[in-house]
Amino acid sequence: MRTKLASDSLPGGIALIFSSRAKRLKITVDLMMEVTLTVPSRCPREKAAAFAAEHSTWIESRREKQRERLRQIEDQYKAHDKKSPFLGEWIAIEGASEPFYRTRAKDFFTAECAALAKRFDRVFRTISIRDQISRYGSCSAKGALSFSFRIMKAPLFAARYLAAHECAHLVHLNHSAAFWSCVESVCAEYRSADRWIRQNSAFLRFDPQ
Ligand SMILES: [Zn+2]
Repeated sequence: MRTKLASDSLPGGIALIFSSRAKRLKITVDLMMEVTLTVPSRCPREKAAAFAAEHSTWIESRREKQRERLRQIEDQYKAHDKKSPFLGEWIAIEGASEPFYRTRAKDFFTAECAALAKRFDRVFRTISIRDQISRYGSCSAKGALSFSFRIMKAPLFAARYLAAHECAHLVHLNHSAAFWSCVESVCAEYRSADRWIRQNSAFLRFDPQ
């Protein structure tokens, strides 16, 4: 079932989302410090506004944390002479970095997934490169793989893990124990790679000015 969403905004730039799937009021502060309050469809707007006001100190502390994280990332870029991260190295990219990352991602995942699919004795249909933010890769039931170009900013072991993860979905379209042992069979360091990706979302999302 699709979630029915309606959106609105509250003072302080807080996005207000009415969701038919939400059971309670929930605030999230994303990596770029955008704040969203998700509430059940029938929640009165006043109640949502009061909830946001009650949590203003918490919201500000989360925003400060994210700001600090972004400062650290900016410092990393400065320390590398404004070069760009690419599979664990820092390199100079001519012009805009996104087309560069997209082309490299396409080449990288095409080669990785061809080898992995062969090992799993499966075939995939297509590989597309996107700018996914909530997930960095996906695999459809029909074998269409997609990856975010942003994973090219990660170390090689994390990018290879992502390819292994999505290709293992060609065998198991779930996250069962069998799926994870399939991932492990081609990527021994899958746990640390998965952790790296989860802990470095801000780094992957960051686009230097
Ligand atoms: Zn998965």
